[in-house]
Formats: sequence, structure tokens, C-alpha cells
Amino acid sequence: MHALKGCRMPEKRAKKILVTGATGQIGSELTMELRKRYGSENVIAVGHSRKPSDTLFKSGPFEFADVNEKESLEKIVKRYDTDTIYHLAAVLSATGEQNPQLAWNLNMGSLYNVLEIAREHRLFRVFWPSSIAAFGLTAPRVNTPQETVLIPGTMYGVTKVAGELLCNYYFIKYGVDVRGVRYPGIVSSEVLPGGGTTDYAVAIFYEAIKNKRYTCFVREDTVLPMMYMPDCIKATIDLMETDPSRIKRHDGYNVAGMSFSAGELAAEIKKYIPGFRCDYKPDFRQRIADSWPMSINDSVARKEWGWKPRYDLAAMTKDMIEKLSKRFREGNL
Ligand code: NAD
Repeated sequence: MHALKGCRMPEKRAKKILVTGATGQIGSELTMELRKRYGSENVIAVGHSRKPSDTLFKSGPFEFADVNEKESLEKIVKRYDTDTIYHLAAVLSATGEQNPQLAWNLNMGSLYNVLEIAREHRLFRVFWPSSIAAFGLTAPRVNTPQETVLIPGTMYGVTKVAGELLCNYYFIKYGVDVRGVRYPGIVSSEVLPGGGTTDYAVAIFYEAIKNKRYTCFVREDTVLPMMYMPDCIKATIDLMETDPSRIKRHDGYNVAGMSFSAGELAAEIKKYIPGFRCDYKPDFRQRIADSWPMSINDSVARKEWGWKPRYDLAAMTKDMIEKLSKRFREGNL
């Protein structure tokens, strides 16, 4: 365990938080939860090309910036006297395979900018998420351990492995207290996911409710690790609020929620929508899914900072169906 060299001490809690990628699937819900906990005026949402919802835009400070332009990000950090950054802006796996150059430039360039800003301005803490995409075919696919060989088969995965190493380096070299988890596929009901390999696990709910039909882009027997959004937000904030003395790693903690096949998900949805029919037409994303873990061993996160998920497939499906059915009835889906 290394001493925190360059950080502002002895603060115990973030005071002014900046969230990049705030209009994204995770950022939009994380920003709202952080505003509840830390006060709306203390959480600055940073958006880019995606239009923010009215709720997000009006509930607290909102700025536009390209995270690849360090100066524009730095200006916002200074203007609000930011001490903590949740850096969520990124290109995801499926989009990244279609444009690997963009994935490298955005994912690595923006992380480097954020870590440099944290170093230069001696920020209190940084959150940056890795992904199960950091693993590749050389890692065990069942109960994938925290420590294993990381040779991903996608450019997105390459940026996650390189990003984990960069975060660890900034901690050791400069004492930047950067923390991260390897998110599995995230399922949520507010904002649609933006180009990942697990997007089918969200789209299937929308299509089941709207049309009672869905064509899934991975095979019926494809099993991947997933997590429901309330658990994703909990993992993120719990990790960031843990005392530094308990945090032993600064790359990415394995965190598990649940694992299920596309067929099992469709069967669970059918319990609520009996006429629902799911067809399977695998595309280029099948190859990505086949290179990822099927289940995750998160014993290190459980031991070090008390991680424990609350949702399984049945509880998540019930909640998703209730929330999306309500939006459908209100003409808002
Ligand atoms: P998302 O695609 O929904 O949102 C990303 C946001 O980044 C978008 O709102 C976009 O406007 C913004 N962005 C893109 N280019 C930008 C630029 N140049 N400057 C500023 N902003 C820019 O992504 P998400 O699903 O919310 O993911 C957030 C983080 O979590 C990412 O690092 C992703 O790799 C990681 N992750 C997500 C999942 C998942 O299932 N959603 C799984 C594993 C890891």
C-alpha cells in the first residue's frame, strides 16, 4: 500500500464533483444520485453531443466540453473549484470495434487529461470505470478472478487495460487517488445504452413492452455478467466513499451483479408479457461477447470495501417491467 503523496489532505469527503459523460446511460443516473447526496449545486454535469434530459439539465450546473480538450475541461474544474471527477465519457465496445481509432483517441486521451488535471490541481479523488472487456480469451471465462492475464480482443478492451495501468501509475508516481471498477453490462430504464455489446439486455425490455417482439443480436445461449443500475450506482459511490486505508488497488475492482443467458432473460420477461417472442440473429457483436467472461469473481471488492449487489435477474426484471410499463402508459417510451 502506497502513501497518498500529492493529494489534498485531510479531506474526508468530496466537496465539488464533476461528472463527464453525464448524459450517458450511467452518467445521467449517477449525476442525479450524487446531486441528492452532495447537494445539487455541488455536482457539475459535463455533456457533449447527446442532448441532456430536462431533469438533468435543470437540476444543477451543466457545462458542455470535449473531454479530449484538456483546457476546456480544466477551465470548468477551476471555475467550480472541483475536487473530484467521475470520468465516464468514453466510446463503448461495439462502436469501438467499428472505429478503433476513435476509441483509442477518446478513451486514452481523455483519461490522460483527467489524470493530469488531478495531478496538477491536486484533486481529492477520481473515479474511472474499467470493464469486463479488459478480459480476453486467455482469462478463465467462469468465475473470472481479479488477477489474471489481460489480453482483450477489442480496441475498447485494450483502452480499458491500458487505462487501468495508467491509473495505477498515477497513484504510485503522483499519489492521485484514482479508483475504478470493472463494470459488467449495465441494465437500466432511464437512458438507452450507447453502443455496447450488452445493449440487447436493455433493448429487449423496450421492445417487449412496445411490440412484444425482439430480435436479439447474440445467440440464445450467450451468458454474460450484468448488473442493474441501482447496484452500479451503489458500487460506484460506495467505492468512492471508502476510507483510503481500505483501498488496496487503483486499477479496477471486479464487481459482479448477476449472470444470465439471453434466453433466460427472454423467459423471465415472458412471465410478465406472455405473448412476447424473442428471435436470435447474431451479428459482429457475438464475437465480442464470446471473448468476455460469463461470470465474475468479486471476492476482493467484497472483502476490501464491503461490496454486495442487491438485484438478481428476477428482482431486476420485475423493476424494469414496472418502470418501463409506466412510461409506456404515459406515452413516454
Ligand atoms: P454512454 O455511451 O451511454 O455515455 C458516454 C457519454 O460520453 C455520452 O453521453 C457522450 O456524449 C459522452 N462523450 C462522447 N465523446 C465525448 C467527448 N469527446 N467529450 C465529452 N463527452 C463525450 O456510456 P455509459 O454506458 O454511460 O458508460 C460510462 C462508462 O462506463 C464508460 O467508461 C464505459 O466504458 C463504462 N462501462 C459501461 C458499461 C455499460 O454497460 N454501460 C459497461 C462497462 C463499462
